[in-house]
Amino acid sequence: MVMNKTFEFTPATSAAHVLIVGGGASGVLLAAQLLRQVPETLVTIVERRAEIGPGLAYSTPEPWHLLNTRAGNMSAWPDQPEHFSDWLRENAPDAAARCFVSRNHYARYLAELVAPSRLSGHLRCVFGECRRVEEGAQGVRAELSDGRMIRADIAVLATGHPAVGNELDGMSNPWAQKPLTGTERILIVGSGQTMTDQLLSLGAAGHMGKIIILSRRSQLPRVHTDNRPLQIFLDEVPRGAGAAEAMRWLRRRVHGHMQQGGDWRDVVDGLRPHVQRIWAAMPLSARGAFLRHACRWWEVHRHRMPPEGEAALDKLNAEGRITRMRGAFLSTTREGDGSIKALVSQDGAVTELQVDRVLDCRGIRRDPARHGAPVLADLLQRGRARIDPLGLGPEVTAHCALINVDGTPSTRIFAIGPVTRAAFWEITAIPDIREQAVRLASHLVAWRLKAHKPMASGVA
Ligand SMILES: Cc1cc2nc3c(=O)[nH]c(=O)nc-3n(C[C@H](O)[C@H](O)[C@H](O)COP(=O)(O)OP(=O)(O)OC[C@H]3O[C@@H](n4cnc5c(N)ncnc54)[C@H](O)[C@@H]3O)c2cc1C
Repeated sequence: MVMNKTFEFTPATSAAHVLIVGGGASGVLLAAQLLRQVPETLVTIVERRAEIGPGLAYSTPEPWHLLNTRAGNMSAWPDQPEHFSDWLRENAPDAAARCFVSRNHYARYLAELVAPSRLSGHLRCVFGECRRVEEGAQGVRAELSDGRMIRADIAVLATGHPAVGNELDGMSNPWAQKPLTGTERILIVGSGQTMTDQLLSLGAAGHMGKIIILSRRSQLPRVHTDNRPLQIFLDEVPRGAGAAEAMRWLRRRVHGHMQQGGDWRDVVDGLRPHVQRIWAAMPLSARGAFLRHACRWWEVHRHRMPPEGEAALDKLNAEGRITRMRGAFLSTTREGDGSIKALVSQDGAVTELQVDRVLDCRGIRRDPARHGAPVLADLLQRGRARIDPLGLGPEVTAHCALINVDGTPSTRIFAIGPVTRAAFWEITAIPDIREQAVRLASHLVAWRLKAHKPMASGVA
């Protein structure tokens, strides 16, 4: 509902004003980069949660929900790799010696990263839902759902992954429910990192019931070890090749490395810095084939779980409480006695499961037009953005500018982080997003210096 309209004006300043929609990790990393490169920049973050920093990934308060990336790779600054580890030593000394630390430490780290800029007034945080961003010749105007307006020179969408919603009767958003403590029968749909988080929460709460883990391919994330990335040069990698050829190359490389006593993880990690370039050079048909046939394989090897996740799984297996099931989730119906009937498709046949709770751990949604932030839905509806042919997300240029329905790049609306997955693919984890933040901040600074004067205060 639109309330009494209040207007927020950009203060009179000669510096550029960048508005970032979304105050999760991507929004914070970009704000920090912009203010590092040009300290007099004015940045406004609009965030619908109560805090800046946690976003979806780091909002869990549960200490057993761990980062799945080593602390040593989670620095906000690519040129200061020890920055997060140093912060841990100072602020969470008990955790500093561990490889995989609680995600809530990372939320605090991000909040503290930009705290001085908030104090100095160069970073302003506005709490509310941004529902529309409009672009004009003089700047951008953002409209919040409570009627507030914000004008700026540039807007950047940092709205994160398409959200998990409770769409079906009986499906629970795992992040929005109390852990179960009894012997309830649980169906977990999805077998990625969110699933292992839920096993850890159930274990901590004392749950003793049976758990079915359902996924299409019954693949679990592999486990981290203390491996070292192999040095792979870009010109060794088949670029512009089909998905099958690229995967054959990878398997050959893994096989060769393992024959010499190496670990397959070294090859996967060594390839990672090149994945965005490989993706950019892949023909559309090859990207489609990769998504259909090899994506899940790549993800379970690339997005690995910390050893603590594997230990939770092993314990449940040893107790005989886990059943892994391969199949496609179809639907849920709540029964009269409060239990839930879930339908699963397996090799063309439909199987019926009777459980007490279904946890939706399917993670990232594949339909950004339907599950993306409303502000994106609005841009799509007005033709200011378009979804890529594979349905991964809005199309952006190499400089992260949103591309409109006619194929024209926006001059003032950009995107960062997982929102830009269609163009960059490997853009979900901090080591990739922080690099993107450096590039985007440099581009915006250059843009500002080249051609555009800051806008005057007032309503756009
Ligand atoms: C459970 C989980 C664990 C992860 N663990 C790791 C890890 O250990 N290491 C790693 O490198 N990566 C991890 N990731 C990957 C993660 O995607 C990135 O690290 C990063 O957190 C993405 O941040 P983001 O800001 O783009 O998205 P999000 O965290 O989703 O944040 C987006 C923010 O935008 C806000 N927002 C959206 N729309 C609007 C709007 N219209 N108006 C106002 N606010 C809006 C949301 O409220 C949210 O706070 C994890 C991801 C998940 C889901």
